Amino acid sequence: MTRRVNVLGGGPGGLYAARLLKLRDPALEVVVHERMDGAQETFGFGVGLTEATMRNLEQADPETADRVREVSYVGHELRFAAEDRSVCLHGARNLAVGRAALLRVLTEAATAVGVEYRAGSHADLGSVSGDVVIAADGVGSGTRAKLSAELGVRTSLGRTRYVWCGAPFAASSAFFASARRGQQLFVTHAYPYAEDRSTFLIEVDDRTWTDAGLAAFDAATAPGETDQQSVRLLENVLSDQLRGGKLLANRTRWSRFVNLGLDRWHTGNVALLGDAAHTAHYTLGSGTKLALEDAIALADALAGESSVPAAFAAYEQARRPAVERFKQLAGRSQRWWDSYRWRADWPAERLGLSYMTRSGNLTMADYAASEPGVVRTALEWLGAAPSGDPAEWVLAQPLRGNGIQLPARAVPRADLGQPVEEVAWAEPDVWGEDADRTVARLAAGTGPVLVTGKPGEFWARVDFAERLRLRTRRTVGVDLPRSARAFAATSVGAGRADFVTVSQEDS
Ligand SMILES: Cc1cc2nc3c(=O)[nH]c(=O)nc-3n(C[C@H](O)[C@H](O)[C@H](O)COP(=O)(O)OP(=O)(O)OC[C@H]3O[C@@H](n4cnc5c(N)ncnc54)[C@H](O)[C@@H]3O)c2cc1C
Repeated sequence: MTRRVNVLGGGPGGLYAARLLKLRDPALEVVVHERMDGAQETFGFGVGLTEATMRNLEQADPETADRVREVSYVGHELRFAAEDRSVCLHGARNLAVGRAALLRVLTEAATAVGVEYRAGSHADLGSVSGDVVIAADGVGSGTRAKLSAELGVRTSLGRTRYVWCGAPFAASSAFFASARRGQQLFVTHAYPYAEDRSTFLIEVDDRTWTDAGLAAFDAATAPGETDQQSVRLLENVLSDQLRGGKLLANRTRWSRFVNLGLDRWHTGNVALLGDAAHTAHYTLGSGTKLALEDAIALADALAGESSVPAAFAAYEQARRPAVERFKQLAGRSQRWWDSYRWRADWPAERLGLSYMTRSGNLTMADYAASEPGVVRTALEWLGAAPSGDPAEWVLAQPLRGNGIQLPARAVPRADLGQPVEEVAWAEPDVWGEDADRTVARLAAGTGPVLVTGKPGEFWARVDFAERLRLRTRRTVGVDLPRSARAFAATSVGAGRADFVTVSQEDS
């Protein structure tokens, strides 16, 4: 029977796990070790949480959920400020919370039920003992590094670089915007998270990183310090977005996102949770959510199973499917933002539709049900005014493309009746080196291209088709299973493919 639990890391995941464990079994001795000395020292500014996450927290622990709500900033809309104008992507349903405020609430919630919280305690597997160790020590987890052979660690770095800053005012909505300086492109993801605070996350691609001199600024900044030269440059470039004011920085440096996955989330008496176990790109806004939901599942498993190995196995079994799904959605979102430069001059509504459907968890029809005006305007790129059901309308549009004419955008594969160059594609990373080579080869050709693949792997195909549309002059089709009609319409409507052939059965 478990008597003593050591939690390494007092981030959202570790604190919440500690609180829930103690709530479920008050006889447990639970200690949280946090190397920082207080919530104000923490990295980052605000994080976004969804209503779905809040409902999960309410079910697990209504008191803490209420406190999180009290310190959250609720009810702002989301806008996309394109180069031509700004469009509202959805109404007031966002909720954001300052990371420091969230940690304060979770620390109080944990200590209120008898968790021992040791601030300034830099702990590792060698310095703690107990029946169970929960490694909640974040993306740079020292615990994971020590156990890497047992856990099977896979990492890769994101292509863009980002800085996580704040601004001393509440923006009137969450928004995306970009600013150009010649060929340099600075992309802002901003949202208010308190009456007097907003998160300003700024992303740059390799070209901007080099051309704007950011690489040199970064190299000249001492470890642990804010990159002041970059912050000054961003204040200048983003002056309109910042209302002429300053950015708030807190050991603010350029980073590349660490994509992380593990073959196993536990070994012996150690279980990993949150960012220590897995990451999902920040443009899906779900890392804190996943850490908190891991904590719920781990606490439930430890309370419900008779042995630690059985509890850890149950925890991983319960959480892995949801985490893998979010990682996949986040991966597509990440690649959409990686390639933003190639869409940056699109009209606002087109960008909005492409953005809202980027991960694949929302179809164009779903989105049209809530924002019909945005979708109708976005579809004008197809050359006529949409009417009726947008998905059926899109698929019924004729195509007069580069070397191909079709009566509708969706045709049975057998009825294509014209020569097309076929390319098979199954690799999710459609902006990697393999894809570069294939795109270069196809760019040199002419006429239509059809992207095909094995049944069940159609996301990669659609994303590769989009890359071909963005980076070559060819007319691009994608072969999709019959069951994916809604996604076929989404792919064409959002400009990921010019046409779809329907041939494959479900896998
Ligand atoms: C730019 C950016 C934007 C983001 N935006 C969002 C968002 O909008 N919504 C969202 O849900 N998520 C967002 N996230 C993700 C979110 O920040 C993380 O997923 C989340 O913080 C993970 O929580 P965690 O408890 O697993 O780890 P962390 O929050 O990283 O906490 C780990 C803790 O462990 C401590 N620690 C590390 N080593 C030791 C040690 N040896 N001893 C003691 N303590 C130690 C650290 O000091 C830290 O406090 C964003 C992330 C980034 C990078």
